[in-house]
This record gives sequence, structure tokens and C-alpha cells, in this order.
Amino acid sequence: MIQVGKKNSRQRIGILGAGQLALMLAQASAALDLEVVCAGRPGDCAGQVAEVRNVDLNDAEAVAAFAQGMDLVTVESENIHADVLQGLNLYPNAGAIGIAQERLLEKRFFRDCGVATAPFVAVDSLIDLHQGIREIGRPAILKTRRLGYDGKGQVRLHQSEEAAAAWASVGEAPCILEGVIGFDAEVSLIAARARSGETVFYPLVENYHREGILRVSSAPFLHEDLQQKAERHMTILLKRLNYVGILAVEFFVANGNLLANEMAPRVHNSGHWTIEGSATSQFENHLRAISGRELGSTESRPTVMLNCIGSMPPEAETAAFPGLFRHDYGKEARPGRKVGHLTFAAAEQAAIMEWEQRLQTR
Ligand code: AMP
Repeated sequence: MIQVGKKNSRQRIGILGAGQLALMLAQASAALDLEVVCAGRPGDCAGQVAEVRNVDLNDAEAVAAFAQGMDLVTVESENIHADVLQGLNLYPNAGAIGIAQERLLEKRFFRDCGVATAPFVAVDSLIDLHQGIREIGRPAILKTRRLGYDGKGQVRLHQSEEAAAAWASVGEAPCILEGVIGFDAEVSLIAARARSGETVFYPLVENYHREGILRVSSAPFLHEDLQQKAERHMTILLKRLNYVGILAVEFFVANGNLLANEMAPRVHNSGHWTIEGSATSQFENHLRAISGRELGSTESRPTVMLNCIGSMPPEAETAAFPGLFRHDYGKEARPGRKVGHLTFAAAEQAAIMEWEQRLQTR
């Protein structure tokens, strides 16, 4: 029966950002009968599957006008200034994003929640930096408090004499100085929290970085004790933040303990494997959470994801591997840029090794 005049009841979700995370969120929205509209720039890759409106994400008025036409908004990046996010019907909330976008607030928040971190001090001047080096020792890492990602805005210090050059190289921006952790592994935990407070966790993932960029994620990082510890930490963080949506927390594993490094208030690169590896992907669960739905099962099978950095391998080459799932974000090739990823069932060991070499992930 055709219902004349029935209002379209599909929820409309606005995503601030239109890169690959927005692209994969938009792809996942199809299963949920949601409408996704992105705020970004013409030519951004989410435009392949969703409407992208030209919005300057630094312009609070433009963002507010975009959000007006949406039932709710979410972000694909933590780097949108917290001032721009005020007053929006936003999931996760602006307070949580504000903490995640500032390393000093973030590290203090972890500590306040009883979650251990690397030793750190605030650095606002060269004098602070010298003092910090004395306190923390060497080697240490100087990180800008804002806008650092994929190893950008970071300098390692081996000698005190390097302090002035390091301070200049971060543009004398507010920083933190962190002790270097001799970790056994880097892992991340991804969780989804619904509006009702219902929370689900994915298995811990082991992550391998090179030149500060994530290259490989391998799930699960099988360690019952650490899985439980990470979930306990995550539960506290989510509650304290009054969080709704996907939250990813990256930890160092050192001497059998977890040290939190950073959190991402959004879907995360180390969760891309869930598209093929889990009953419900991180993208679908984020949309479920923020749109007020129940969460989907995170039951998962062992899966490995390899990032394609700089350029995608030719299709003819990936097609020769039937167990490989190819995700091409449709982005222009550029050195250091994440342009796609490949996913394999973990049992495809030979293919994974082959592609690790081809993509130079180690
Ligand atoms: P971040 O931007 O903080 O995620 O740092 C990027 C990468 O640098 C991490 O994934 C680690 O591989 C490395 N790293 C960052 N901080 C530390 C630290 N305190 N000790 C050892 N390695 C670190």
C-alpha cells in the first residue's frame, strides 16, 4: 500500500569529514537504512558513495548550518576544533572529542581513570623541555599536543643537546615530552557503546607501525588477561566520557602491563579488518550506536589487515589472490598517504607474507 504524504522517516546522519572513514561508514549505512551526508571538500573520497557538501570544517557557522539539516552528526577525525563542535547534536560528544584531540588532556584523563601511561610532562618552552629531559631521561619523544597523527609532530631526543633543534622543529608549539617505552607489542582495543550504555568489545588487535604509520593489524592478539584488563580500562573511559559510538584506545604492552598511548573518538584504522572479520563491522556498530539502535555482535575470526601506503597495488596483481579483499579508497597516489587496505583471513599465511613484502610493511 502506498502511504500518501508519509514523511520520510530515514534518519539522516551528517559526518564531519569525507575521507576513507566516512566512505566506509557510508558503505555500512546501506544495511541500516540510514542516510549519510558528508561535510568535506569536492573530490573527497566518500563522494563515491555519499553526498559530500562543501563545508569548511574550521568554520563554526558553516558546520552549524550543515548540522541543521541532519538528525545528528558524527566525526571521522578528532582534529575538528572543539569550539566548532559546541552546540551540535553530536555523537560522540564534544567533551570526549576535545580530550582526545589534545595529548596533555588525554594523558591526564587516562591517569585520572587509573589507566597507566608512559611518563610524561607538559612542555611549553625550551626551559620546560630541558627540565623535562632531566625528569624523564633519555631517549624521550617530544609530541605536539594537537594535530599529531601518523607520527607527525613528533621528534625523538637522544641527547640533551638536541633539545633546541627539537623545539624548533615542532614550531615551538605546546607539547608533551614522553619517555620512550621499550614495548613488547602495540595493541588496540575497539569498543562500541550504545545510547543505552550497552557496550561491546572487539578482540584486541596487534598493530605494527613503520615510520609512524600503521602498516599491519592482526586480530586477535590472543591474551585473555590483557583482553580483560583492556576491557576494564575501556569501560571506565567510556562511562567517564558519557560516550556513544566507537572508541579506539591504543596501548603499549610492556612487562605484561598495558600503557595507554592515545585514543581515537571514531572508527579506527586498526578496526578495518572487522568489515570481513566480524559479524558486525566497527562502521556498522558506530552507526548503530549513534542512531540509537542496539549493537551488533562482535563475534570475530582471525583476520589480518595490511595498509596500502602511497599507492594501490595493480588490480591484476591482487586479483590473483582469491583470499584477499581489496579496499581501494579511490584516492590519488601520494607518498605516505593511506590509499587503501587489503584484508585476509589469518589462515592465508602465504598470501599475507607475500603481500607484506610487496607492500613493505615491515
Ligand atoms: P602516536 O602518534 O602517539 O600514536 O605515535 C606513533 C607511534 O610512535 C606509536 O604507534 C609508537 O610506535 C611510537 N611511539 C609513540 N610514543 C611512544 C613512546 N612513548 N614510546 C615508544 N614508542 C612510541
